[in-house]
Formats: sequence, C-alpha cells, structure tokens
Amino acid sequence: MTYLAGAGGIFHSVDLARLKSYAFEIGPLRPPSEGGSFSLLLRVTRNCPWNGCTFCYGRFYNREPFGLRSVDEVKADIDSAKAISDELIEFSLRLGYAGKVGPLAAVLQSQQLYGKEETDLTEKEFKNLYCLVTVFNFVVTGGENAFLQDADTPIMDTGQLVEVIEYLKRKYPGVKRIASFARSKPSSRKRQRSLAGSARLASPGFTSGWKRVTTSC
Ligand code: SF4
Repeated sequence: MTYLAGAGGIFHSVDLARLKSYAFEIGPLRPPSEGGSFSLLLRVTRNCPWNGCTFCYGRFYNREPFGLRSVDEVKADIDSAKAISDELIEFSLRLGYAGKVGPLAAVLQSQQLYGKEETDLTEKEFKNLYCLVTVFNFVVTGGENAFLQDADTPIMDTGQLVEVIEYLKRKYPGVKRIASFARSKPSSRKRQRSLAGSARLASPGFTSGWKRVTTSC
C-alpha cells in the first residue's frame, strides 16, 4: 500500500500490487518520430527476417532469429496494455484528477513501485516498469499513435495483421495512426487496401534513399 497526494493535497491509499503484475512484450526499436509521439509499442513479430542491409545486418536485434507471433499472443499483449491504461485512469479518478494520468508520473518510479533504484531491479521488475511507462506516455499524449514492432510487420499473413489492427482499434478507439517498419519487397506484394487503410510503413530502402545499402530488402 502506498499513500499518494491527491487533488487538493489529501493523501489517499493506493494499492499498486495490480499495476506491478502487468507486462507485455516490447521490441528494441522504434523510429525517432515514434519516440517523440510516444506511440504504444506492440511487438507483432520478433527481429528481422532479412538481416541483409549493409549498414545494419540486423544488429539492432542482435541478429536474433526472426519469429512470427500468434494473433492470440499479440491480443493478450494488447489486453495487458489496456488493463494498465484502465488502471491508471482509475487511480487518477480515485485521487481526484478526473481521469487525467499526468499526475501519476510520480508513481511510476522504481522507488515508488519497488522501493529500490532502477539499476537494482530484476529483469521482470524492469520489464513491468518499462511497460507501465510506455502505456503512461501513450495515454498522457492522447492515445492516438501505435507502432507495431519489429522490422517487417507486412510479412505477417494479411488476415492476421488485419485481425490485430482491428482488435487494437476495438480496445483503443482513439488510435488514429498505426505505423510500422516494413521491408519493401513484402510490402509491395500486399495490395494497399489489404492493410485496412491504417498502416504507415517505414522501409530502410525509403529512409536511406540508397539502393546499395538495402540490396533488395
Ligand atoms: S530490414 Fe531493417 S532490421 Fe533488417 S537488416 Fe535492413 S535495416 Fe536492419
């Protein structure tokens, strides 16, 4: 149990145990433009299936093997993110902040949650804190942007990708932009309308502008 100053300076007891129980999978990368807009990060595949661009060779993913994730796994992650945002809004209401989550930034610190410095957190604790902060940033900036990780989301079966996007939109109707990294070859094979009109794709070929560094990615 933690006591927090609510609106009007009155202290309220808040049980943080449930907040500390949530986690979902987040990949290592997002483009700088997504960092600035604090997108909700959702890992729909793992790592890069290509590893062939000469400036990268997949090193941002430690050249770990590429893997697809099941729709059920991704939906469970979306559920966890939604549970965190619901919990934050409920805390805000209880503290008298009318659902605004900004004042809760003070709670989402490793000392408040775990009573120790961030450098002393276990891997599980650190993952939980990272998920909480990611969802907090997404909600506090309006909850409009989501970024699907990792390197090549369109490689997913189109029906499964649409199912994920529709589920995300159902859980977060306020989301207006869903972005992702994409290799140019698999993307060019998708009909534009098959991506549900929601996707904004960034490819190394488009961003570098130099064909030699991407060699048919
Ligand atoms: S597609 Fe992306 S992650 Fe893969 S090698 Fe190229 S730049 Fe790196």
